[in-house]
Amino acid sequence: MRHRLVGILLAASCAARVSAACPRGWTDRHGRKVVTCAEFKTLPPAWSLNVDSILSRIDFGLGFLGYAGRERLIELNLFRNRGSYLASSFRPPAWSQGLAIKPKTVLVCASARQRGIERILAHEMTHLRFEQYWGRAMPPPWINEGVAMSEESADQSTSQWYWAMAGFAQRGYLPFPTATFVKLNPITDVGGGAEGVGEWYAEAYALVQFLRSNGGSFRFSTLCSDLRKGMGVQDAIWDAYRYTSLQQMERKWRRWMADRVSRVPPRFSSSGRAFDPYMDFGL
Ligand SMILES: [Zn+2]
Repeated sequence: MRHRLVGILLAASCAARVSAACPRGWTDRHGRKVVTCAEFKTLPPAWSLNVDSILSRIDFGLGFLGYAGRERLIELNLFRNRGSYLASSFRPPAWSQGLAIKPKTVLVCASARQRGIERILAHEMTHLRFEQYWGRAMPPPWINEGVAMSEESADQSTSQWYWAMAGFAQRGYLPFPTATFVKLNPITDVGGGAEGVGEWYAEAYALVQFLRSNGGSFRFSTLCSDLRKGMGVQDAIWDAYRYTSLQQMERKWRRWMADRVSRVPPRFSSSGRAFDPYMDFGL
């Protein structure tokens, strides 16, 4: 999720010795790119190596769009359960599982399964990197969340969001018309509870997957640059992709989804589920 908190940090002085920033009794681990403060007595072997390697993958994937702020160490706060996460001084929203706070803080609630933790961690670190590109502004929610979901997994065909996209393609369905969708904030504008919000997220993933796959990083960077300057979505799409309207883009996007899913079918098909965007659903 995207969020801004001003002036709330675990401790004021964390630059010189990171261990001093960790609350008493927490475990700290120093990686090359990420410092972890964990509410656990121990962490898995090579924890920092693995976290650094997830971030390296994200940096490679984002390229220029994730370059701003790379010189800073990320401070990862790993909470052992939902209670301590929600009670923390960062005041994360009750429905969230993780939070990115510019310029360098990431929170993760570690009560999920290990695989889920890695996914949430990748999602939030992507927010941190991508949001730096936008300076003081924030990216539009659809592109911010779509990019974060795209970087959750190294292999898209294992992503829960890929499942959801496959469901859209199989049913020839999109939850929201594109022209409406790009204006929505999932937290404030989307009804239907978790189901509606889950569909919005799945659509954001599918659209960003399409745009990032279509014309490479140059076109997607042009789109982000135009949006960052304040250009409207339709004009930015024209400038970067030469679609004359969002409706024309949507037709191409639907064809791309159907083709993509037919060439790379989602895994786990033995479960018999074609569409479940709410599986282990985190924002
Ligand atoms: Zn998010």
